[in-house]
Amino acid sequence: MQHQLRSLLKTHFGYDSFLPNQLAVIKDVLAANDVLAIMPTGGGKSVCFQLPALAMPGTAIVISPLIALMKDQVDALRANGIAAAYYNSSQAPEVQEGIFKELKGGTLKLFYVAPESLATFDTLFQDLVISMFAVDEAHCISSWGHDFRPAYTQLGNLKTRFPQVPVMALTATADRTTQDDILAQLAIPNAQKHLASFDRPNLYLEVRPAQNRIQQIIDFIEARPDESGIIYCLSRKSTEKIADRLVALGFEAKAYHAGMPAAARSQTQEDFINDRTPIIVATIAFGMGIDKSNVRWVVHYNLPKNIEGYYQEIGRGGRDGLPANALLFYSFADVAQLRRFISQSDNAEVEYAKLERMQQFAEALSCRRIALLNYFGEHVVANCGQCDMCTQPPTYFDATLLTQKICSAVARLQEKEAIGTVVDVLRGAQNAQIFEKGLQHIKTYGAVTDVSWLDLQQYVIQLLNQGVLRINFKEHGQLELTPLAKQVLFEKKTVQLAVLQKADPKVKKKTKKSGKTGLFETLRLLRQQLAQEAGVPAYVIFGDASLKDMEAKLPTNEAEFLNVSGVGQAKLEKYAEPFLEAIKQYQISSKPKVPTHEQSYQLFLDGHTVAEIAIARGLKEDTIFAHLQKVHASGEEIDLDQFITAAEVEKVRVAQEALPDAEGLKAYFEFFEGTMPYWKIRLALYQLDSVRS
Ligand code: ADP
Ligand code: ZN
Repeated sequence: MQHQLRSLLKTHFGYDSFLPNQLAVIKDVLAANDVLAIMPTGGGKSVCFQLPALAMPGTAIVISPLIALMKDQVDALRANGIAAAYYNSSQAPEVQEGIFKELKGGTLKLFYVAPESLATFDTLFQDLVISMFAVDEAHCISSWGHDFRPAYTQLGNLKTRFPQVPVMALTATADRTTQDDILAQLAIPNAQKHLASFDRPNLYLEVRPAQNRIQQIIDFIEARPDESGIIYCLSRKSTEKIADRLVALGFEAKAYHAGMPAAARSQTQEDFINDRTPIIVATIAFGMGIDKSNVRWVVHYNLPKNIEGYYQEIGRGGRDGLPANALLFYSFADVAQLRRFISQSDNAEVEYAKLERMQQFAEALSCRRIALLNYFGEHVVANCGQCDMCTQPPTYFDATLLTQKICSAVARLQEKEAIGTVVDVLRGAQNAQIFEKGLQHIKTYGAVTDVSWLDLQQYVIQLLNQGVLRINFKEHGQLELTPLAKQVLFEKKTVQLAVLQKADPKVKKKTKKSGKTGLFETLRLLRQQLAQEAGVPAYVIFGDASLKDMEAKLPTNEAEFLNVSGVGQAKLEKYAEPFLEAIKQYQISSKPKVPTHEQSYQLFLDGHTVAEIAIARGLKEDTIFAHLQKVHASGEEIDLDQFITAAEVEKVRVAQEALPDAEGLKAYFEFFEGTMPYWKIRLALYQLDSVRS
């Protein structure tokens, strides 16, 4: 059976092997078991119901919350030659009629419908052979989840009405409460649970202090020309500000936030999906239901308010499995602002706790992925090698004296001042606030002048993490000492702090700006053109992973094309021709060219005369002589004497003595009053020169 499923996977979807858990989930549905499949974004949930739907008789009913998502999935299925359709209440009546007919005919393998429209099909489903119910984004059924949809609660009666039909619930939300709720609400208490790892090893995780963010972002995207990415911000205003700034610098970027008119929003989203606008600066309203697989980087301009949100947002990067970057900027100002938002929430206790976990992640000095996965209950211990802490592990220095100075300043300020003021005092700042409060008189004023302001702030943050200091948010964020601080001050406790990494500005800027010539780029343009003609998103034609695979494998015929990841039978038939042709053309045009003088020499070796070569190549004879001379100079054995007599060489030698200052050939030409052609003069000079040397 495994073999058959594999072959279905290749024929219809073009993949050679299953992603983790896919096969186990599929086998369970085929055995008519109910299933709860929890997989991270990009984990390949769709194949889990699409493939068994093909293997089973009848139609699979897929319940999906978002129209855009349904449409894209159906487009992608059809591109793979699979009979699929979707229904929603905004379609024209005649379109809906057509869909009803298709559904009744029983030819559809998959039928997508929003939960709100399900009631429309109550009677129709009775007469249908239904292979399974697949509930996508199943966490929407739970009021514990983060996208609760009341209509999802209707889904509970599916199992009661169709007890024989397996129900499959799929989600990327892992927490236990939501899981239990899904099983209860869908009335599938015996469902087989499949919990895939949440690790996304292709995402490189990085956190940087939020200093000079805009410049850092510019450098970051300049190093990644033509790549698609998302910059997440907290406020609508900053999305616009940053987008404007990027546009002014020549980047193709657009802002996106919930305050924009609906039409502008969907246009922006479309342009992003179809690779017309590579960069989106957005609030977190952006991305839900976007299935774009080639997002290469996600930047968080501001700190997210919890790890769930952060992970969901970075999860939009690298869904095609190719490397992608997640860069987070961390600032204390953001923490303070988020805390202000939370203070107005009903659920403040929980939200503060979640924000603290987010902060701990941002401040971690060991593998970030370990921190992340442990948060989701996966107890990994091995360093990932794919995060900033793994690739540039911190080094430590003995910071006992520095810590004593900092703690002493906090003490002398009566634990009443926030970080900024403490740092000011230590650095001996001369600003109005200091003088107004008379802080220039306290004993630790100016005690640390050899550390920059921002670095000193970072050290204080490290001390917060180590529990030496704490922030009292109830008292305007004043810094306070903990018992640990007292040990440092009075009991000779030593402290190690991490040496701060200098953000290396201007990392290897790729100079390539225009003249994008790689094969990948060529294939990308072809894909874009085909997508436009077909009116579907580009990734419906092929994902980046497939294009990369073509670039690596350089298929020359259909059999080789079928070996490309993502090429199944339908895509082979539709796209082999244009893509094979593009690859062929590219190879011809990029073949290393034989230098022009070598081409002339080849013809000469083949026995052609200089006159013949000149005609054949559309060049002047003079040029062909120059070519042969060049070949001779490079060490080839050519008898040049056949072109020129000793007497002619002698004439040129005489001319040379008469023209001591001659530069170039023109003076000689005039000297001989045009009776000696340029090529002969050049050749004679060359021979004279080689005799001398
Ligand atoms: P999810 O819905 O879990 O976020 P998708 O179903 O959209 O994930 O799949 C994510 C990406 O992985 C898609 O680009 C999909 O084509 C690809 N994919 C799915 N299954 C496989 C597989 N077996 N081999 C390679 N790529 C796959
Ligand atoms: Zn790591």
